[in-house]
Amino acid sequence: MLYVKAPAKINLTLDVLYKRPDNFHQVEMVMTTVDLADRISLESREDGVIQIISTDNFVPTDHRNFAYQAARLIKDTYGIRQGVSITIEKEIPIAAGLAGGSSDAAATLKGLNELWELDLSIDEIAELGAKIGSDVSFCVYGGTALATGRGEIIEELPAPPNCWVVLAKPKIGVSTAEVYGGLKVEGLEHPNTKQMIRAIETKDYELLCASLGNVLETVTFKLHPEVVMLKEQMKRFGADATLMSGSGPTVFGLVDSEARVSRIYNGLRGFCEEVYAVRILGERNTLA
Ligand code: ATP
Repeated sequence: MLYVKAPAKINLTLDVLYKRPDNFHQVEMVMTTVDLADRISLESREDGVIQIISTDNFVPTDHRNFAYQAARLIKDTYGIRQGVSITIEKEIPIAAGLAGGSSDAAATLKGLNELWELDLSIDEIAELGAKIGSDVSFCVYGGTALATGRGEIIEELPAPPNCWVVLAKPKIGVSTAEVYGGLKVEGLEHPNTKQMIRAIETKDYELLCASLGNVLETVTFKLHPEVVMLKEQMKRFGADATLMSGSGPTVFGLVDSEARVSRIYNGLRGFCEEVYAVRILGERNTLA
């Protein structure tokens, strides 16, 4: 049995540059992993079957599961005869903008590389991951990175300045496809990605707070006004800066003092069930 952690990501920036002829959006995103993670266990089996077991009833247990697709891809690409039982202990909220499914896929690819002794490099695993979904490559590396292309081109960044992240997810799921579908690329107010990268490189917490930006906020805000309210509450309870992650609906606040983290956490818990206080993981993963 092999255990692999699958951490959630947050977007410090999310920009859409244009819509491509292949219908994907050309994006520019600064992402970082946080210590809220699913736990994946992998057990090889002789009958060749890929089985998904999950603690969460909302997680699909068939070919729609990204971890299933990861195992299928490895089996088909490398002609592996064995099967695998994949148990997913879900901690990351689903359809939340935190890349939970993508991270499960990335962890499965890395775990199977070890379990089946394939000796793939991390770059090879990230390249495989891109075939499953745009965020999977980033999740393979973890840490902090600039993602471009449709999200699959990854440039490593140093760890951001130390701070806490309070995450809150309203009781709704958001469809990433619907949000991108509702986006009008002309006339967008773009985040300053270069300034965000400078803030990270110089470990300037104030500049990092001032550089947060996500062009998908306006689309999701229109669909789900409760997301705007949650952001405002977080700010009122004392977050230094707030942003929606991915296509939402999860909102996060950055905080540099532990005392304020408790105040924000307790305040939000009054009306929001899913609240987490976590740290930024910062550094890139190496292979286990
Ligand atoms: P992103 O931030 O990459 O847009 P997300 O956090 O918004 O992703 P996920 O939690 O990955 O969204 O789930 C999106 C959909 O993917 C869910 O509705 C679910 O049916 C499906 N899915 C497939 N595999 C998984 C998995 N391992 N865990 C959770 N959801 C999964």
